[in-house]
Amino acid sequence: MAPASAVQRPAAFAVEHRDGAARTGVLRTAHGEVRTPAFVPLASHATVRSLQAGEVAELGYDMVLGNTFHLFIQPGHEHIAELGGLHEFMAWHDPIVTDSGGFQVFSMGHGSVAEEVKRRNPRRDGGPNVLEIAEEGVRFRSYLDGSERFMGPETSMEIQAALGSDVVLAFDECTPFHSDRDYTARSTERTHRWLDRCVEWRAEHDAGGLFLGIVQGGVHRDLRHASAERIAATEAIDGVAIGGSLGQDKEEMREVVGWALEALPDALPRHLLGIGDVDDVVHAVGAGVDWFDCATPTRLARHGTALVSDPEARWRLDVTRPPSRSSREPLAQGCPCPACRDHTRAYLHYLARAKELTAVRLLTLHNLTFIATLVEGLRDAIREGRYAEHAAAVLAGRGPYAAGA
Ligand SMILES: [Zn+2]
Repeated sequence: MAPASAVQRPAAFAVEHRDGAARTGVLRTAHGEVRTPAFVPLASHATVRSLQAGEVAELGYDMVLGNTFHLFIQPGHEHIAELGGLHEFMAWHDPIVTDSGGFQVFSMGHGSVAEEVKRRNPRRDGGPNVLEIAEEGVRFRSYLDGSERFMGPETSMEIQAALGSDVVLAFDECTPFHSDRDYTARSTERTHRWLDRCVEWRAEHDAGGLFLGIVQGGVHRDLRHASAERIAATEAIDGVAIGGSLGQDKEEMREVVGWALEALPDALPRHLLGIGDVDDVVHAVGAGVDWFDCATPTRLARHGTALVSDPEARWRLDVTRPPSRSSREPLAQGCPCPACRDHTRAYLHYLARAKELTAVRLLTLHNLTFIATLVEGLRDAIREGRYAEHAAAVLAGRGPYAAGA
């Protein structure tokens, strides 16, 4: 596998150290460098919820992810462009990756969307929000005011360009898990045609930013291989994202990601979309993924859950539950975050149950510190050639903090 890349331009990504399939490297963008492997926190609505941009940078993050779909709906990409672009708007001065909007557009009509295309009847109502899915793109109703909107490859490129994204993702169809092979094959082909339209729009408009194609192909090895090879052979790309349905459990997900990776050239950086559980991060980095974004650490924080070194509990501690009620322990021993430095589990238990905003903020700071420390530890381990040993320790609950939790 691993065909030679067609990319002839100066590479934006350089691998620095390797340990097995894992690698460290640097991604160079117009707003600075991203050290990889990297976790990318979500700033879907132009904010990492409850934090200021400067605080996110101080936690050790080099890049955040803005959401094309949400920012299109509200406040609008033109409005953000008038105010100087997304960096200026949210006062984040480092790299920004934007997703394409495809995932959100298609998840609105999940299930019914697949049915709709299978029956080749683009006019059939695709659910509460999606009005029509066609080769041109997707018509849907805004969740904000019910107005009719449209998004296709060109729209997505236009929005991402207006936002001033450093890493632009191609518009793709995100197939639901239950799609059959035939539907997935046809959908993947369309994603490839949409990639070409994205490339064309970017060339015509001299659009900036690095550009990533998205590997689809569902849970089918040959489709994943074909998609990875097709994307990698597209001259205009600077990297590849792995998206779509990755299977129904962790084992299948690792297998599917492996299929995409084995068909990708070594020189291209790889973004794994929407993956962020501790064990998944450790496995993905070990398999050669360079960065990943995920809602989990920040979403858990909003629901009263802290990340801790407890594999048995899927690295989660729900502080709203009784065991934390009178605990004088910090969330995690050895964690330098403000929640652990200054507060007990008992206090966070009370705040979270009382739905105090401070709970969300402290748990977000903790969870992002936990993940930043985890990923920094993984980078160090690769550099020092001890990834397997370090990964085993983390997976056994001995990390990312030396003191454990
Ligand atoms: Zn902490």
